[in-house]
Amino acid sequence: MDFSLTKEQQMIKEMVRDFAEKEIAPYAAKWDEEAHFPLDVFRKMGELGLLGLPFPEKYGGAGGDTISYAIAVEEIGRACGGTGLSYAAAVSLGASPIYYFGTEEQKQKWLVPMAKGETLGAFGLTEPNAGSDAGGTRTTAVLDGDEYVINGEKCWITNAQYARQVIVTAVTGKDARGKNIITALIVPTDSPGFTIRSNYDKMGVRASNTCELVFENVRVPKENVLGDPQKGFKQFLYTLDGGRISIAALAVGIAQAAFEKALQYAKERVQFGQPISKFQAIQFKLADMAMEIELARNMVYKAAWLKDQGKPFTKEASFAKLFASEMGFRVCNQAIQIHGGYGYMKEYGVERHLRDVKLMEIGEGTSEIQRLVIARQLGC
Ligand SMILES: Cc1cc2nc3c(=O)[nH]c(=O)nc-3n(C[C@H](O)[C@H](O)[C@H](O)COP(=O)(O)OP(=O)(O)OC[C@H]3O[C@@H](n4cnc5c(N)ncnc54)[C@H](O)[C@@H]3O)c2cc1C
Repeated sequence: MDFSLTKEQQMIKEMVRDFAEKEIAPYAAKWDEEAHFPLDVFRKMGELGLLGLPFPEKYGGAGGDTISYAIAVEEIGRACGGTGLSYAAAVSLGASPIYYFGTEEQKQKWLVPMAKGETLGAFGLTEPNAGSDAGGTRTTAVLDGDEYVINGEKCWITNAQYARQVIVTAVTGKDARGKNIITALIVPTDSPGFTIRSNYDKMGVRASNTCELVFENVRVPKENVLGDPQKGFKQFLYTLDGGRISIAALAVGIAQAAFEKALQYAKERVQFGQPISKFQAIQFKLADMAMEIELARNMVYKAAWLKDQGKPFTKEASFAKLFASEMGFRVCNQAIQIHGGYGYMKEYGVERHLRDVKLMEIGEGTSEIQRLVIARQLGC
């Protein structure tokens, strides 16, 4: 039950559910099959204020809290995992770093149009040889007069093909201990020398746009440095902490969709003269699924609440992301099991949830990395 939600949060839940059930869910299977990015839906989400949900009104946002934003991600993810991923990436990765670290001028120029839903943004951290070890970034940005010259490549960057700008991490020098200094730069996608390709054939979240980025002597003005040029590494760790709450919320939404299908199917499917929901083995599966989803949701809300209170939330965001993503995989797997052979067929739509939810154990820090983050927070 949502007894803990405020009136505003409850209203957002109802509004987004209504929108997602009408505008997203009926098309999700088709978008999955065709790997279609639903740009028109993003325009509509922009009109509803969803792309600026957690940002203040003075930056074009809706002034909502992180819990409201997590609710929106869950509801969109319940309708379509791929759309949910692109929504979460647009807000948590494309827009949030500019809100957290940008100058007033950068906020006006880049954040406001994103928050209003007029443009999309992306966040390019991962490289072919630097994934979990993002500090091993090889992309470089060299200062030449008043401009940085960027060379390198990034992989699997969400939304880049539809973005007006990408926040790119690059090595800009070495510190006193000889370690790479990583700087974040705002790079307009129409910059000469910047190539964006979207040729990946993904297992799931296929409605989400995923891109390879190549930088060949891409020039951006010095003013496009985001935040402290020495602290790009710390900044993206903070950004990912926030993003993990949204990935956890997305896992909850996908699991919820799979659970609802399994519950309904279990009540309808008759074997041995009775609905399979009358078998205790199936009841126990459904009971565990319902419980685990609710526990994960509560952890998402707790991490979001801590963030809103300005309290440390790194450990809790990792708890939420790790538990929700692994829970999501278990729940979607059991939803197929409850459907038997029908669950293995595309027609019933549960196999899509399993394919979609798998990404939650990988993106924005794998499950192994979440365990490392938690262990570090425990002082290990
Ligand atoms: C659909 C999709 C969308 C994405 N969107 C974005 C995006 O918008 N922006 C972006 O920057 N990135 C994005 N990513 C990249 C994603 O964040 C990385 O895939 C992820 O961080 C893991 O990196 P990797 O794939 O290189 O795996 P690797 O780091 O190579 O890991 C491989 C395996 O080794 C394990 N491993 C690695 N290091 C350790 C360790 N120290 N201890 C124990 N185990 C370890 C991992 O957990 C994993 O199981 C996206 C990826 C996908 C698939």
